[in-house]
Amino acid sequence: MLINYSANTKPIYLDYAATTPCDPKVLDAMLPYFCNIYGNINSLHYYGAEALEALTNARQQIANDMNVSIDEIIFTSGATESSNISILRTIERLKQCFFTDQTQHASIINIANRLQLLKQPVHFLKVNKEGLLDINYLESQLKENKGLVSVCLVNNETGVWQDIKPIVEICHKYNSLIHVDATQAYGKIPMDIKDLDFDFMSASGHKIYGPKGIGILYCKKSNQKYIRVPRSNPDIEFGIRAGTIPVPLCVGFAEASKLSHQCIDKELERLTKLRKLFISKIKNNLEEIYINGSETHTYPGIINVSFRGCEGESLMMEAKRIAISSGSACTSNKLTISHVLNAMGIAPDIAQSSLRISIGRYTTEENINTAVEDLTNATLKLRSISAVWDMIKAGIDINKRFERGIYKH
Ligand code: PMP
Repeated sequence: MLINYSANTKPIYLDYAATTPCDPKVLDAMLPYFCNIYGNINSLHYYGAEALEALTNARQQIANDMNVSIDEIIFTSGATESSNISILRTIERLKQCFFTDQTQHASIINIANRLQLLKQPVHFLKVNKEGLLDINYLESQLKENKGLVSVCLVNNETGVWQDIKPIVEICHKYNSLIHVDATQAYGKIPMDIKDLDFDFMSASGHKIYGPKGIGILYCKKSNQKYIRVPRSNPDIEFGIRAGTIPVPLCVGFAEASKLSHQCIDKELERLTKLRKLFISKIKNNLEEIYINGSETHTYPGIINVSFRGCEGESLMMEAKRIAISSGSACTSNKLTISHVLNAMGIAPDIAQSSLRISIGRYTTEENINTAVEDLTNATLKLRSISAVWDMIKAGIDINKRFERGIYKH
């Protein structure tokens, strides 16, 4: 049920990893392409040429932002579609093993499940306690089987930022391909794709203050043969995707990409300060607070924090002035322990008390202070009535009870 908030009593949005508001500058850039410049890029007349010019400019902007060539950018409906196209079609063609890490986003786990149903070999790669991919394990696996590896550059639940260059190098050393899910990274961390040498990369417009329903697939020219649809029209997205291209959305993605790339370093610095402020204040107010994921390899906009003795979902409901998430938006409606924290070997009681606070372009210091205040009060309240908290304080190892399923939902 939607609670009826008036505009100025709406909770503070701290869920930028789920989606971002469209930047008004992006909307302004898109508007002419609805009612004035509305042609179909495939039409041979003036209107088609006009739309095609806008599409080409948008594609060129994105290619420049990534330092790749214009014919390596394919517009899709979003990262999920980009990943589906690149992974499913490549594995179907090459009939090789699909490798992905256990902390991947649900969209990639779903692809792995689909491949397993199709009797294709799938291998889940290990991560360490900090959420970083175990490179030695990856190498040992690739020595035995070549294939396509999919890695999430910035994890949507923890913000863990993989050291991607050595991962790409190992994949290529063993004649394997690499797909990078950059949905939480694109436009937020510096990336020179030519230098990084990705084979495929997925991203979505709505994570970078652009419109929903548009994404990109970066596909290196030499790999397009794996994902091109036989007998398709090569003039539409290089024969990789069909249908009428939504020019206003493509223009919106390009504008969002341009604006984001203009301020990556400054924004990283600002978000790092806000992250540090949140962590120091909440740790100062409360005992038994845990920050999940690497502290050194982390995108600062995503903070995964556990309030031991409280359930993440209960905290979320209690902290009414802020809109946060108990995991990724795609899985947070399920009351199970996060597969990401589980794969990192985080104890069940810590995992179950975790929340994701994700900050972005419009987050202020004042917003952080409100979040700290609400979460402190909510934690104190919940702990005061929590039997689990009493057991923790009495030194009882409650994780044994998780194993027996007592606290399972
Ligand atoms: N990968 C990651 C890491 C994500 O965070 C998301 C969105 N939550 C996706 C893929 C899927 O993006 P979309 O829903 O825009 O296709």
